[in-house]
Amino acid sequence: MSDRIVFEKNGKTITLAEHSGFCYGVKTALQKTLKTVEEYEGTGRRVYTFGPIIHNDDVVNDLNMRGVQICSAPGSTEKDAAVIIRSHGVPASVEAALRDSCGQLIDATCPHVKKIHRLADDAYHEGRTIVVIGDAGHPEVQGIDGWCGNEAVIFSDPAEIERPKNLARLNRAEEILAVAQTTLNRNVWDACTEALLRRYPRAQLRCTICSATSSRQTACRRVAEISDAMVVIGGRNSSNTTRLAEVCALTCPRTFHIESVDELEATAFAGCRRIGVTAGASTPENQIASVEAFLKTL
Ligand code: SF4
Repeated sequence: MSDRIVFEKNGKTITLAEHSGFCYGVKTALQKTLKTVEEYEGTGRRVYTFGPIIHNDDVVNDLNMRGVQICSAPGSTEKDAAVIIRSHGVPASVEAALRDSCGQLIDATCPHVKKIHRLADDAYHEGRTIVVIGDAGHPEVQGIDGWCGNEAVIFSDPAEIERPKNLARLNRAEEILAVAQTTLNRNVWDACTEALLRRYPRAQLRCTICSATSSRQTACRRVAEISDAMVVIGGRNSSNTTRLAEVCALTCPRTFHIESVDELEATAFAGCRRIGVTAGASTPENQIASVEAFLKTL
């Protein structure tokens, strides 16, 4: 796979960046959900996802039409229901509570995230202090925190190390292990770990940015560098899509982060000869195709 020229005519080129669209973790979570829906059809038992299965309203609405509901707390479903944990994963305590409160628990946590849970769990039980470089409000980071006693030091800006609360925790630490939110921008990891090592030179680093994220960011940067305009498709609440838009905007100021083709205006592309397209890990093929079709008409 590589960047793909989807249109080339009269000096106008539209290029789709490599690795656009569903990643392995999202694809697998959706497959597990659809398989469960089929298995439960006609049984009278319900299927829930713990939170929206992916950051995409169309996909979530389609699943809802097929009877899949969203729950947000363990114990809020029927006792015989199936509950699917999405690719972001959940804290250990939530996993245990879900297991106890529903008929069948299907764990669709992405293996990349699961690996971080294990690292955090092991380090916590060995008495190490865990630093998560990422967004403290993101469910994936909250899930990781929950595998280390909700005691992780979390930040995504190097200056945040200096917060009294963080310094108090880190100064007490015998050993420090730093991991990354899987969708983190590599530059943020570099800046934060540099600041961490300056203060705590013996801190151990495990860069757990997932390869799907880093490859996608590299590809969109490559396409943005040669484009007059970039279209980034994906939910505004999707962390990996937001990172893509940030990366593109660094070299291509005319970057548009959209959730659907309806948000695009032809006038915004006036004078653009080379247009690039990329899409977040939760963006389905059909949404990418509609954007390509719109851009071809310009
Ligand atoms: Fe897994 Fe990476 Fe996709 Fe996240 S972006 S679900 S970590 S493959």
